[in-house]
Amino acid sequence: MRRKAFNLYSTHLKARFGGRVHKISIDAGFGCPNRDGGRDGHGCLFCSPSGSGSVGIEPEKSIAAQVEHAKSLMRRKYRAKWFIAYFQPYSNTFAPVETLRARYDQALAVDDVVGLAVGTRPDCLSPPILDLLAEYDQRSYFWLELGLQSIHDHTLDYLQRGHDYQCFLHQYRQARERGLRVCVHLILGLPGESREQIMATADEMARLQVDGVKLHLLHILDGTPLGELYKQGKVPMLEMQEYVELAVDFIERLPPSTLIQRLTGDGPRNILLAPLWSMNKWEVLNAIDAELERRGTVQGAKCRTILNCD
Ligand code: SF4
Repeated sequence: MRRKAFNLYSTHLKARFGGRVHKISIDAGFGCPNRDGGRDGHGCLFCSPSGSGSVGIEPEKSIAAQVEHAKSLMRRKYRAKWFIAYFQPYSNTFAPVETLRARYDQALAVDDVVGLAVGTRPDCLSPPILDLLAEYDQRSYFWLELGLQSIHDHTLDYLQRGHDYQCFLHQYRQARERGLRVCVHLILGLPGESREQIMATADEMARLQVDGVKLHLLHILDGTPLGELYKQGKVPMLEMQEYVELAVDFIERLPPSTLIQRLTGDGPRNILLAPLWSMNKWEVLNAIDAELERRGTVQGAKCRTILNCD
């Protein structure tokens, strides 16, 4: 089998733990400051009613029950040995420190859970919360997952993110000062962004030497403000090959050390308006592999941070 031309997170996990490690998405009941502090309100233009969470989560169950249920499924399906509890939908640092501690502890107490991943917004962190996360980093294999989407403030305004790039930068530095691993979530193909602007985001991630990235394509979901704009013909969409080329351009610009946790996305099928080609996730991933091979390129080949460092 051909060696991957990029630094794949799952390969890293397997090497580090000596066996298959899978992430389990859980809904711990948090809200979001960008959705009126709860789960209502519109929030980000693209945010689904489920808070941009994964499909298949059963929020009515306790945290431990969600983890146990997913564990048994993943053991059967993937022969997974160990698990990372991923606090995914909404903003998973949006509560007092003691509430956060209690909920994170419930997940970490489940057998074979070796780590936590906590997804949140940059403006939903404070020094006491970052100190708490640093404790979990000492006790387990820990990732902070920060939603950013783009470094361009005009895009963040358009998306109604409710924070700017400086906010991200400040909290990113605070997290790194505490030794936290940070994975940054980004969307390729946002309305109003040129290829050069998308590559500026890639170059900035390289300059920051982020530990990990998740690259998403823009999903248009029914019932979201973006979905309404799409129906009015106001949201241009990428074709699959355009996305594939952007993703490969992006990968080439990242340092080889950055772990790539995601290269596409699979939005909830029942409310996905576009792009419908994204439903075939493996076709997209195979096309990215094929484009890397066609170019004879690898992650880091066009990394400005590396190319300019001597
Ligand atoms: S920060 Fe996340 S949960 Fe909150 S509105 Fe935006 S996408 Fe939705």
